[in-house]
Amino acid sequence: MHRLYVKDDITVFWDSEVCRHAKQCVGGAPQVFDITRRPWIDLSRGDSAQIWQAISKCPTGALGVTYNHGITVEFDEKEQRSIATINGEVIGECDSSADENGWVIYHTHVLPEYEGKSVAKRLVYCMIEAAERRKVNITATCSYAARILNRS
Ligand code: SF4
Repeated sequence: MHRLYVKDDITVFWDSEVCRHAKQCVGGAPQVFDITRRPWIDLSRGDSAQIWQAISKCPTGALGVTYNHGITVEFDEKEQRSIATINGEVIGECDSSADENGWVIYHTHVLPEYEGKSVAKRLVYCMIEAAERRKVNITATCSYAARILNRS
């Protein structure tokens, strides 16, 4: 399971397949990471610096975090893609097609001037989460997306 959690200035990534419940994150920010709660991550309960520090202690890389840089990432239901925008301008997208086996991510692209800001990772996580929430199988021919999908 892949999940994105967004707070004003940061986005947190969580990959349950990699999570080994060493609970380092819980110890670092117990009000934010609570495995008895659903959803178990609630970014509104901590400040960004504390959350960042707790995530840096995750021993498996199941958790990741990035600054948002004012960029919004959302799922576009009509086009079955995720898009990244800043001030209304589209600066990146992750595209998928559908076949009898589910969705296939075939393309992920971010404008060169926005590279290095984890936008592509946010786009791919957004696509995967959208498929998982709809219980649709998802695969990737895009090599970048495939690496995220097949990490475990
Ligand atoms: S520290 Fe990492 S591996 Fe451990 S419970 Fe938290 S997310 Fe999972």
